[in-house]
Amino acid sequence: MRTIILKFGGTSVASPTNIRRILAITSDQTRYPTGCIKAIVFSAFQGVTDTLITLANQATDKNANYHSLFEEAIEQRHLDAINELIPAERRGRVLAEASAVIHQLQDILQGIALIGECSPRTLDQVISFGERLSSFIIAHAYEAIGVPTTLVDSASLIKTNSSFGNCVPDKALSFPLIQNQFKDVKNLAIIPGFIGSDKNGTITTLGRGGSDLTASFIGAALQVDQVEIWTDVDGILTADPRKVKQAFPLGEVTFEEAMELSHFGAKVLYPPTIQPAIESCIPITIKNTFNPDGQGTRIVTNRSPSSQPITGISSIDCIALIRLQGSGMVGVTGIASRFFKALSLAETNVILITQASSEHTICCAISPHHIVRAQNAISQEFELEISTGRIDPLVVEESLSIISVVGESMRHTPGVSGRIFQALGDNGINVVAIAQGSSERSISAVVSGADSSKSLNALHEEFFLSKTKSVRLWIAGTGLIGKTLLEQIHLQSETLRRNYGLHIQVHGISNSRTMACSNEPLSDLCLDACDSKASIPSDLPTFVSHCIEANLPNSIFVDCTASEAPPKYYASLLRKSIAVVTPNKRAFSGEQAYYEELSALAGARRTPLHYETCVGAALPVLGTLSDLVQSGDTVHRIEAVLSGTLSYIFNTMRLENASFSEAVVTAKNKGFTEPDPREDLSGLDVARKVVILARNAGMKIELADIEMSPLLPPSSSEYTLEEFMKNISSYDSIFSSKLSQAAQEHRSLFFGATIDCQAKSITVGLIAVDRNHPFCSLSGADNIIAFTTERYKEQPLVIKGPGAGAQVTAAGVFADIIRAVR
Ligand code: ADP
Ligand code: ASP
Ligand code: MG
Repeated sequence: MRTIILKFGGTSVASPTNIRRILAITSDQTRYPTGCIKAIVFSAFQGVTDTLITLANQATDKNANYHSLFEEAIEQRHLDAINELIPAERRGRVLAEASAVIHQLQDILQGIALIGECSPRTLDQVISFGERLSSFIIAHAYEAIGVPTTLVDSASLIKTNSSFGNCVPDKALSFPLIQNQFKDVKNLAIIPGFIGSDKNGTITTLGRGGSDLTASFIGAALQVDQVEIWTDVDGILTADPRKVKQAFPLGEVTFEEAMELSHFGAKVLYPPTIQPAIESCIPITIKNTFNPDGQGTRIVTNRSPSSQPITGISSIDCIALIRLQGSGMVGVTGIASRFFKALSLAETNVILITQASSEHTICCAISPHHIVRAQNAISQEFELEISTGRIDPLVVEESLSIISVVGESMRHTPGVSGRIFQALGDNGINVVAIAQGSSERSISAVVSGADSSKSLNALHEEFFLSKTKSVRLWIAGTGLIGKTLLEQIHLQSETLRRNYGLHIQVHGISNSRTMACSNEPLSDLCLDACDSKASIPSDLPTFVSHCIEANLPNSIFVDCTASEAPPKYYASLLRKSIAVVTPNKRAFSGEQAYYEELSALAGARRTPLHYETCVGAALPVLGTLSDLVQSGDTVHRIEAVLSGTLSYIFNTMRLENASFSEAVVTAKNKGFTEPDPREDLSGLDVARKVVILARNAGMKIELADIEMSPLLPPSSSEYTLEEFMKNISSYDSIFSSKLSQAAQEHRSLFFGATIDCQAKSITVGLIAVDRNHPFCSLSGADNIIAFTTERYKEQPLVIKGPGAGAQVTAAGVFADIIRAVR
């Protein structure tokens, strides 16, 4: 019959309810026919090992009181579990025995308190109580449902060295003991995980997470057919699901892949667990206690080939990088061996060594707890070289993370490292050091701790979700354009998701009154986010900081305001590789220096900066101009009607005989004007567009350099918006006389702009053109832009179409967002 060792982790035994779940799973005859389970290994109840460590530390501290924590989190918790799991008739004896064990623990803590010190050896004694208590209680829970058990004293069977806290089991000593013990076990064997004893019989532990090792070690000793590790996730996932929401379970991984993933932080499996299983060729399966019918992950010698070049991504947070460097290292043999020997003598575990082709530095990652001893050991070893300046004192960088990409198939797939560093680079993640496993099964990058989650997510999207992409938006401004954009996103998001694999997630929305932002996507009803209960008074610096600090891949800041404040933050956002998309002209028509800074920042990191809608709404004006310039054409002249608003106003006056004021009010009501129509009427809005066009054509220019003939007298700017709109009909006469004069000359009036790139002159103002001029074909809110270039010399390249309106502008912003997806 097939034989199995099962192991249930801390989360699986966290509560009596969970323990009942285990009783049901293991008693299921279809899953485990009688006799097939050789033994079940149990961890301590979830959190108990951590609590025991805290208690031991508190006990050493005269000023701390460990008693209440002890009573609540240890004594009461275990007695409560007995009360819930063991029926009244058996309970008395079980409570008494458990209390005796708990008192032993209390005595040890008392001892620690008395001498004010807890050695690693004593700490191992303390933490062994977690597994001893959990296994004892669970064994009785089995007895209570009629399953006879044998509670195995694993400490006496698993003989280890004496590296307390991290002991290594000795196969030669332990296997005969285990085999001997199991000869006589007829009942269900219950084994406390994690613990062993050294040659003196002193209790030891196998390292945090070590119950997994207990299971595979006993499995190897008994030559079972399978080891099953039951936990709280559906197996080994492509990444830690707490950090990468879209991580998914892997059906099969090889022993080597599992080892690399767990070595680099995938806590789901304790790394040394693999060794006994490899040596005895015992497959391990990781299963979910909370989804027992799920397939789980099988860890096997060879797995079927996969189409993915990588298998998983894992990370270790909180590491330090130590670097020894100096000119005296070049060409001198033995430096590396002395460096690593010193670390080893100082019992410093080296997590990763980076490769450097120059012999000038040696660099490796260690746990921050080991910095002091590493520093002392290295300083001593290289005392002479350091004192003579041939080698610099050890450099230590802290608060870093290691991100590791693991997979068998990487060995046969060129370009994987290129994709890794491209994805990190595109998201502005600085790589401090790189290491590739010599087996080519893993590539690791050391990054700042703050970028850990972003790196994991960026790489996960790159490799596992290459057919899908998530884009994360922070939208400032919920005026006409912002609101329309949100509506369009809302309507289109399902299609984008289904047909293009693009997940649009809104993480922040703000207007001048309130804002809502979250590291998780706001709900689909984000249209109301600013009005929702979760919204808070708006504060632009906080909103921008949130976008930066959330530090999520593929983030885009969408400025749908027309105000001056948000553009001031574009540079900071671009510096953090956050894309900026906006119809707000201020930044690009403001100071030339800021425009250049933004263009340079976007260019340097290839961070998208899209503002196509600043000129001609959704018309492809800036894109076309950029294509012309980049493909080597020379722009001579640009003639344009750039104000959809003014086009609309003049067309309404011309074609519908409307008065000026009637035309302005209609345009405003239709959303064709800026919030304050004077910005259009003053020509300032057109001038801004012209500056943007001219700069994109390669000119250096400031707004003040433009020759402007405004439509309204300067006094019009002295009123509030409300007063101006109330008295707007007072301007009707200016326009009626201009219109009738033009009509007499068989001409039509337009508010046009001419950029003469060679003469470096720009004019903006009212012009009267003959009725056969291309401008006369304009209707409604049309814009027209005619590029006369070296290649388009005879006939200009003309772009014409609606250049204003909330729908088209929002659609243009939406298109820019999609273009900004990396
Ligand atoms: P147990 O108490 O069962 O031993 P652990 O907490 O030690 O459970 O390990 C399970 C946890 O490992 C999961 O809850 C998950 O958050 C974490 N984990 C980290 N990386 C991975 C990964 N690649 N696949 C699955 N789980 C992972
Ligand atoms: N209880 C131990 C720990 O928390 C061992 C284990 O759960 O595997 O590290
Ligand atoms: Mg574990």
